Amino acid sequence: MKKGRIFEIREFTLHDGPGVRTTVFFKGCPLRCAWCHNPEGQSFEKETMTRKDGETVQCGQDWDAAVLAEDLLKNADIMRQSGGGVTFSGGEPLSQAEFLLQIIPILKSRGVHLAVETSGYADVETYRSVIAEMDFVYQDLKLLDEVEFRRWTGGDLKIVLDNISWLRKSGVPFVFRVPLIPGVNDSESSGGKFRAFAGKDMIEYLPYNNAAGVKYRMLGREYALKEVVS
Ligand code: SF4
Repeated sequence: MKKGRIFEIREFTLHDGPGVRTTVFFKGCPLRCAWCHNPEGQSFEKETMTRKDGETVQCGQDWDAAVLAEDLLKNADIMRQSGGGVTFSGGEPLSQAEFLLQIIPILKSRGVHLAVETSGYADVETYRSVIAEMDFVYQDLKLLDEVEFRRWTGGDLKIVLDNISWLRKSGVPFVFRVPLIPGVNDSESSGGKFRAFAGKDMIEYLPYNNAAGVKYRMLGREYALKEVVS
């Protein structure tokens, strides 16, 4: 059985879906968004983060699906009473689809509501196999121009758009999430493009998170958007 690599488990979250939830952050992402506010979630490898005082934090822990499911289920009563559940985030959770597909049936068999936050950057079979099992999807919309998408995330926009086409037909409830990045996608014209693309589908805008710079320093990395936060 494939193990999953997780870099954080956050209990009692309120903004990653309905009710009280536990959010599981998967380590590793195929994209490299310049603004990424979870840089410790990008590498698939385990990493060490060093605080200002020299103390270190290990980032990335390997879990068996059954063990992780049991850990998540300890809050199942609170989740159920509040209409909450578990949200898979990251990093990119779909990059560990084999592991996800082991844990999903265990949680579902106990009536846990499941949501995922995804960039949509996965091959079509992987995307469909996981999304079809979800009760709710947060689908990122970062940029709608191919060249800009490549420039700021390193990826191929077509992969995301193909998956979104399927999502729209799938019947799985979803919302588009747009992280607003100063100077990248926060102009009037970008806003117009997002609204036109979303049409009748729901769209949520996330304010720019300027706390990410500290995490880059802790990883010994340069924050590409540091001029935005200074
Ligand atoms: S898709 Fe998300 S986790 Fe991956 S690099 Fe972009 S912001 Fe970071």
